[in-house]
Amino acid sequence: MIQIKKVACHFCHMNCGMLAYVEDGVVIKVIGDPEHPFNQGAQCSRGVSALDHLYHPNRINYPLKRVGERGSGRFARVSWEEALDDIAERLKQLISQYGAETVSTIGGTNRTDDFARRRFFNLLGSPNVAHTAPVCWIPNFLAETSSYGWGSFDAEVMNGARCVVVWGHNPGASYLPEMRGLLQARETFGTKIIVIDPRFSETAAKADLWLPIRPNSDNALALAWLNVIINEGLYDMEFVSEWTVGFGELAERVQEYTPEWAAEKTGISAELIIEAARMYATSKPACIMWGVATDQLGRGSTAGAQARVALRAICGNLDVPGGDVMPGPHPTFITDWEMELNEKLPEEQRAKQLGSDRFKLNSWPGYQLITENLVRVWGKSIPAEWFCEANPPVLFRAMATGKPYPVKAAIVLADNPLVSYANTKLVYQALKNLDLLVVMEYWMTPTAVLADYVLPAASWLERPVLTTTYGVSDWLVASERAIKPLYERKTDYEFWRELGIRLGQEEYWPWETDEEVFKYRLEKLGYEIESYEEFVQKYRYDFAPREYRKYLTRGFATPSGKVELKNSTLERLGYDPLPHYVEPPFSPEARPELAEEYPLTLIAGGGFNPFFHSEHREITRLRLVSPYPRVAINPRLAEQYGIKDGDWIWIETPTGKVKQRAVLTAAVAPDTIQAERGWWYPEKEIEEPVLMGVFESNINVCLDDDPDTCDEACGSWCTRGVRCRISKVGEGS
Ligand code: SF4
Repeated sequence: MIQIKKVACHFCHMNCGMLAYVEDGVVIKVIGDPEHPFNQGAQCSRGVSALDHLYHPNRINYPLKRVGERGSGRFARVSWEEALDDIAERLKQLISQYGAETVSTIGGTNRTDDFARRRFFNLLGSPNVAHTAPVCWIPNFLAETSSYGWGSFDAEVMNGARCVVVWGHNPGASYLPEMRGLLQARETFGTKIIVIDPRFSETAAKADLWLPIRPNSDNALALAWLNVIINEGLYDMEFVSEWTVGFGELAERVQEYTPEWAAEKTGISAELIIEAARMYATSKPACIMWGVATDQLGRGSTAGAQARVALRAICGNLDVPGGDVMPGPHPTFITDWEMELNEKLPEEQRAKQLGSDRFKLNSWPGYQLITENLVRVWGKSIPAEWFCEANPPVLFRAMATGKPYPVKAAIVLADNPLVSYANTKLVYQALKNLDLLVVMEYWMTPTAVLADYVLPAASWLERPVLTTTYGVSDWLVASERAIKPLYERKTDYEFWRELGIRLGQEEYWPWETDEEVFKYRLEKLGYEIESYEEFVQKYRYDFAPREYRKYLTRGFATPSGKVELKNSTLERLGYDPLPHYVEPPFSPEARPELAEEYPLTLIAGGGFNPFFHSEHREITRLRLVSPYPRVAINPRLAEQYGIKDGDWIWIETPTGKVKQRAVLTAAVAPDTIQAERGWWYPEKEIEEPVLMGVFESNINVCLDDDPDTCDEACGSWCTRGVRCRISKVGEGS
């Protein structure tokens, strides 16, 4: 008999609803669920590859223990008991010898239960949990949350938005359900679309206005919009006078940021800057969609986010239908924050979080201030996971150099740090220097090759998923397992629980399975269900009743209860409380000595189909779509260098050099190239020095993560506007 299981794709953040057809314990088909509100039956190419992923012959199916030199690629199969016992024993030794803070974890996106990782580490006593958080949404979210009490990530495009600003985001390539919403809104409401992107992207092709911004000049544009909107009186005066503080100082601050000044910085004409600012301010409601490119500016990422915060607020778009809605936490679901046990991490251990003395907004100093206000207004905070972290550049330096103190162990789960973090050679030194590296993975990856243990991870058809978008939305989506994990694969919840029990955490892990813990988290919602599976089969998602303008009754979750255009939390942490211009770390103005030797501008870091981050390179049908890394080059630039379409070219910065194949396109400016990220080659030799080609085409080899070039408040490193030079492979360099 064929059973139909209600599952959710976890190959990206969209979590599209799928139906898995299961016959005799075998998944025979996975299709988009036509009744699911997110995707309405659609699947992108990644979703279509679900079965290739589940049954791929290269999946890790059993725990593996390193038996050769680190990096030799020689492993032997061991039992879970042997692996977990040994890992627990080695962690105990390291903690007693060096302290709990010398044990770290590095995580990735969207295939884990983040609360379980944080719960484990809080109980262990280590604050050193890290993700790519500083370059992925967190600076924007925290600038918003510290200014108006929650991130406005629920842009209500399909609820009557009259103007949508797509800034640092390309849903036409990376989030197709969002792109569909955008186009439907235009058809339904006549929504105007403004796209801000250095490239003529898939989304830009559908825009009413495309602003071809010079890479890493976004802050200048946002400040100039503020200048236009304030000086032309286009802002919402009633909202500003009743619900904001610091408007006078903001108005004074932005006077120097004229459209003409911004035209010099951005390469966009003053006329187009003014036209776009007017379109945004006079089309109501309007929203600025989430996007991560602006988190990747390095120095100035948070200052730029502050400027967009001010735009949303003064134009009266906050928490209105069709505007920038701040959903707040789900009121009755037991959220990630409630599951994390942050109170178990002692104060003295919080103070040891790496990077928290310098990058204070997304580490314990800022998180504590923000949490006080969120709890006062919402009753709950945002999770510490992602929002309160060790800074990766500082963490990797601690591993590599022992300063400010040595980090001896790392547990990597749902991540491939050798590919996903800037300055690959430093990350390599760091991982090589560890006493213990544990990687839980689907595949043998370049990072896994360096591990002491590689543990087999269950994927989304083998595990249930319950998500509230990293613990910050007022809705949840649930899915069930299609089948039990194959071979000896486990879920991350099982891993943390079983390791935790071995380390004396037993009383904190009462739920034996993922389904048990998920049912517990649903209990206060009031559904009459016997099991988690019943919830999925009958309901599958829960959307808390949506309220708008919640500030009318609650105020904003900030110290003043208002939108803080002058941000008192940033001020208390020692940062400039007003939006301001910061010269990008690698601009010709900031680094004139580089400009001659490295005459071109590099954009690195955008997502592209059919891959998600560094994943899916093993899937043949996806590699056929995109078999090799591509770098976009304007035909005029290519002609100067004698480069033809398909030529391999070297991309070189002061930090490193990799090769990708040229794609000639007028979508990028003649002085700019755009390289793909996340590249490694699963088909190449696994052992050192090749390490599956991780140094060959991985653009992170070329990116610098020197903390002095990182964002002051959140520690983001720069992936946009990096100086580079190119040459044909086989010629010159
Ligand atoms: S990978 Fe594709 S199918 Fe899967 S959730 Fe994302 S958009 Fe949906």
